[in-house]
Amino acid sequence: MVQVAIWWIGAAAPDEDALEAVRAQAERALGVHARLLHSPGRPVDTFDVYRQQHSTERILRWLDIARPRQAHKILGVSDADLFTPVLAFVFGEAQLGGAAAVVSTARLAAPEAVAHGAGPFRARLVKEAIHELGHTFGLIHCAHRTCVMARSANLAQVDAKDDLLCHDCLVRLREANHRGHGDHD
Ligand SMILES: [Zn+2]
Ligand SMILES: [Zn+2]
Repeated sequence: MVQVAIWWIGAAAPDEDALEAVRAQAERALGVHARLLHSPGRPVDTFDVYRQQHSTERILRWLDIARPRQAHKILGVSDADLFTPVLAFVFGEAQLGGAAAVVSTARLAAPEAVAHGAGPFRARLVKEAIHELGHTFGLIHCAHRTCVMARSANLAQVDAKDDLLCHDCLVRLREANHRGHGDHD
């Protein structure tokens, strides 16, 4: 079975309940074994002075190297505001078909999320976490707008989707697992 490590790499104290929600849903949605990694290590040199944001590319590179050997996939959960060169901000980013994914709480805790309590914030974090992990299994953006792999550029699009793969993506995930892990596990 694919082993996934989930690692809080934020600056503030972690929301353990939210991380546990991510862990449990990763197992449910992706059929992996997921565990929370409690390690004080944090990505270094990811802040871009010009953008005043953190580079997902540098975080992903760091995660890939820092990943425990037994973990096939690593999801970093951060509170840093993330960017990629072409976008103003991203909720997360992943190595397509690779090992590392990152998701940030920075843009998910928008004022309306606070007003409605932990529910919407946590649900959004779970969806974006599953989405980015899905990319590490080679899943690309899905045209079904309720599928967790649907592209979401804003909170309304995050809220419109479910925290599970649609049938088509589930079939693709099974094919990817079959190819990637042969018959030894
Ligand atoms: Zn995506
Ligand atoms: Zn889908």
